[in-house]
Amino acid sequence: MMAAGRAGETDAKVLLVEKNNRLGIKLLISGNGRCNITNQVSNPREFISRFDNGSFLFSSMNKFGVDEVIDFFNNRGVATKVEKENQVFPITDRSQDVLKALVDYMKEGGVEVKTDAEVKELRVVGKRIENIILKDGKKITAENYIIATGGKSYPATGSTGEAYGWLTRIGHTIITPVPAYTPVVVKEKFIKELEGLSLTDVVVNLFDGKRKIDSKRGGALFTFNGLSGPAVLALSKKINQELVSQKKLDLKLDFYPDLDFALLDKKVQATFQADNNRVLKNCLEKLLPQRFIPVALFVAGIDSEKKVNLVTGEERRRLIHKLKEFNLVIDGTVGFNKAVVTAGGVALSEIDPKTMKSKLIDNLYLAGEILDLDGPTGGFNLQVCWSTGYTAGESIGLK
Ligand SMILES: Cc1cc2nc3c(=O)[nH]c(=O)nc-3n(C[C@H](O)[C@H](O)[C@H](O)COP(=O)(O)OP(=O)(O)OC[C@H]3O[C@@H](n4cnc5c(N)ncnc54)[C@H](O)[C@@H]3O)c2cc1C
Repeated sequence: MMAAGRAGETDAKVLLVEKNNRLGIKLLISGNGRCNITNQVSNPREFISRFDNGSFLFSSMNKFGVDEVIDFFNNRGVATKVEKENQVFPITDRSQDVLKALVDYMKEGGVEVKTDAEVKELRVVGKRIENIILKDGKKITAENYIIATGGKSYPATGSTGEAYGWLTRIGHTIITPVPAYTPVVVKEKFIKELEGLSLTDVVVNLFDGKRKIDSKRGGALFTFNGLSGPAVLALSKKINQELVSQKKLDLKLDFYPDLDFALLDKKVQATFQADNNRVLKNCLEKLLPQRFIPVALFVAGIDSEKKVNLVTGEERRRLIHKLKEFNLVIDGTVGFNKAVVTAGGVALSEIDPKTMKSKLIDNLYLAGEILDLDGPTGGFNLQVCWSTGYTAGESIGLK
């Protein structure tokens, strides 16, 4: 929509083809229906550093960056507010208002919209797309084409990833798409006892056998079959990438990241001494969330009804070990169905970052999540869409 609007504004005659019966289904559910449109981090360099391939964005963000996006929406009647961690939302908390601004923008530019129109294939002759073929067999011919079909996550919204196939057939490289920002499923059955328990500051370590391969610090949330929350979601791209090669992976949670084993042992000993006559599970309420205590004692193999003064040094050390390295075996992730974003996509080396033009096909441009760019949650992914979409649209309009 941003690409179509900007192409229309710069005098191109534009047709937007959408397979759903309405526009912006994913946009409407974004940010829990509130649409976190961008992230107002301190400067573009800081923004770009949040992506693995972020330097690709320098040109398009220079043209249409965070400030321009905020101005764009403000000037179209969507006042914005900045929330925690610099996340920018419409003041009304309604993604519907963001969609309306885009639809109005397209109307101003005379963009024609064709819904219920699923593209099935591109027909390429030499280095040019001749036309696109719709599901009902109709052909559409244009001078230039922008593909902005998104990734593969939340396929029910329309982003089902078929463009990867078209693009592969015309010579583009697709970096294997994997779900990113997904909850993780673990094998341990006891996990359901912890469903809903939220921890604000833990370190989540990812292990491939004995080797630690990644680590994130932050919040974690237990679900009925695994883990979610910021630190886990941030690790999930790596987990999904590793799972492609069927690796056996473990998560090891450190509930006391600021204390090493010896310091935590001191803390536990002090707590035990102060409460020496109590039942262990009650005494531990000073150290751990109540719901976690039976699980911690179960995995450490300690009788929860035991009096504190009967806990052996060996048992105490086993418990501390579980608090520093609480092991969970990864069974998978919830996959594309519930991934906030798709990692992988069209290889950036095959696209000109100044124009979004394909380096292989003369009249093809690409924008949005279809590109091999994925950022953290917090408004980063929509900003990619605004910047690359605006740039692609302008490249055609001013051609
Ligand atoms: C639950 C959820 C919440 C999110 N919240 C945020 C947030 O608050 N902030 C943020 O920055 N990011 C958020 N994201 C990510 C963000 O929504 C996406 O990165 C962004 O919508 C991608 O935009 P896009 O235009 O590239 O693709 P999409 O939004 O996926 O749009 C692609 C469109 O192309 C259409 N299409 C696909 N194939 C065809 C075809 N063959 N023929 C015709 N049409 C086709 C689809 O129907 C779809 O309408 C969220 C994602 C999810 C799933």
